[in-house]
Parts: sequence; structure tokens; C-alpha cells
Amino acid sequence: MAKKKKVEVQAKPCINISVISCWNCKSDMIDAYYSDDLSIPRGPSYFTEKQMKIAIDEGCIIKETFSKTMQVSYPASICPNCGSMHGDFFYHDYAYVPGDVQCFLDNDDNVIEKVINKELV
Ligand SMILES: [Zn+2]
Repeated sequence: MAKKKKVEVQAKPCINISVISCWNCKSDMIDAYYSDDLSIPRGPSYFTEKQMKIAIDEGCIIKETFSKTMQVSYPASICPNCGSMHGDFFYHDYAYVPGDVQCFLDNDDNVIEKVINKELV
């Protein structure tokens, strides 16, 4: 007899790495965001130190940047071409969008599985 599959909502914490085009100069840049399928994706300003390192190791440029919109500085991904920051307010667009590269994390922010959906160029 087939076992009934238990359906449960599982948080799958993940650092997503995606190539996007810069809103300012349209160059390719590597962006990183945290998702867990339960809440709105979050940018680098919410990353833990370990999550930050994962994103940087994948090629994302993250710098403490002053946001004119928010009047505060916080860590954000930066376009390598023009230096524009990718502000926090962009990240809700990534809801349920898997990154080009996904690094799934355990509760202690160690990468347990790396899924490559698209090679980063
Ligand atoms: Zn740019």
C-alpha cells in the first residue's frame, strides 16, 4: 500500500545569486538575496555574516552604501560598472523567483546544497 505523503510547508532558507541588469547603466551585475519561500526576499542588508560571505564568494559585490532614499547607509549590492547600489526596495520583485544559483542553507547558515539553474557568466 502506498504511503500517504505528508505535506508540510518547509522553510528552505536560501541565498540566491542572479545576474541582473543595472537599473542605471544596464550593465550586467551580480545580485544576491535571501529567500525561504515563507517571507518576502531580502537583500544583503539583512544577511548574516556567513550569508554575506557566500554571496561575495559567488561574485556579488556588496558594500556599505548610503541610500539617498532611506537616508541611512546599509550593505547593498553594487554595480561594478557605474557603482550604483541595488536598494532594498527592489527585492520584493524576487518573491518566488529562484536565483540563477541557489545556495540552500541549514539553520546555521552552512551551504547544504548548491543548485545551478543558470551559469553565471
Ligand atoms: Zn550600473
